[in-house]
Amino acid sequence: APARKHALVTGSTSGIGRGIATALAAAGYDITLNGFGNPDDIAALHRELETFYGVKARYSNADMSKPGEIREMIEQAIADGGLDVLVNNAGVQHVSPVEAFPDDAWDRVIAINLSSAFHTTKHALPHFQAKGWGRIVNIASVHGHVGSTGKAAYVAAKHGIVGLTKVLALENANKGITANAICPGWVLTPLVKQQIEARVAENGTTFEQETEALLGEKQPMLKFTTPEKIGATVVFLCSDAADTITGSSLTVDGGWTAQ
Ligand code: NAD
Repeated sequence: APARKHALVTGSTSGIGRGIATALAAAGYDITLNGFGNPDDIAALHRELETFYGVKARYSNADMSKPGEIREMIEQAIADGGLDVLVNNAGVQHVSPVEAFPDDAWDRVIAINLSSAFHTTKHALPHFQAKGWGRIVNIASVHGHVGSTGKAAYVAAKHGIVGLTKVLALENANKGITANAICPGWVLTPLVKQQIEARVAENGTTFEQETEALLGEKQPMLKFTTPEKIGATVVFLCSDAADTITGSSLTVDGGWTAQ
């Protein structure tokens, strides 16, 4: 049997990253998980990928705000049978108007949501180039194309990652490597649940009311995309059918940016 490909997904212990890791495992990729969380839950996910899909799973606890840890994670992944697919997904949010935005929150969002993708990719590229094959998928957001109040650092980081994706595509156009961004609208994950709960606390409403309000404000389609569907989009971008799709940012946003 041909060797299985190996995909590393940053921030894959929760939400969208977890959906991507699961979809890639289901498609037969060995997986390196990364992210924070309860060690028992992470161990259970690790086992689930191996038992359900028969692939090899690994886990790195590297902090995506620390370039040294990122470098070690990528070097380890390459040493561990080679790396084929890099999904830059780890991300955090901080909501505040610019004049009140704490400096450390700005630095943290930029480090995790933008700079981490530079560092992972920088260390993965020589390996991809030597093999003549690699797939880079950056999980950006509709906020890579449009703004929203209160999200200065997030919107700046997501616009940045869309730009980084284009440069990666150009520099590697004839090296068997593609780089693309996926730009989701609302996906119901812990990151978004926190934002809905904050609105419930502020307005004295219910979770259902705030969910309806949240979707209705921005997204023509009044339903969430699921992590599984973002995972399926990543699998497609890694397939032969997508081997000339590069430098693009694919919106999966229920029409948000069509307006
Ligand atoms: P989430 O909070 O459910 O998951 C975030 C993941 O990142 C977790 O695994 C967490 O442990 C990990 N993480 C956070 N800080 C880290 C660090 N310093 N080092 C390593 N891992 C770290 O969030 P999510 O909604 O699944 O978001 C995943 C990505 O999707 C983010 O980049 C986010 O901006 C993007 N996104 C989310 C939505 C949405 O509606 N949920 C929409 C568009 C884009």
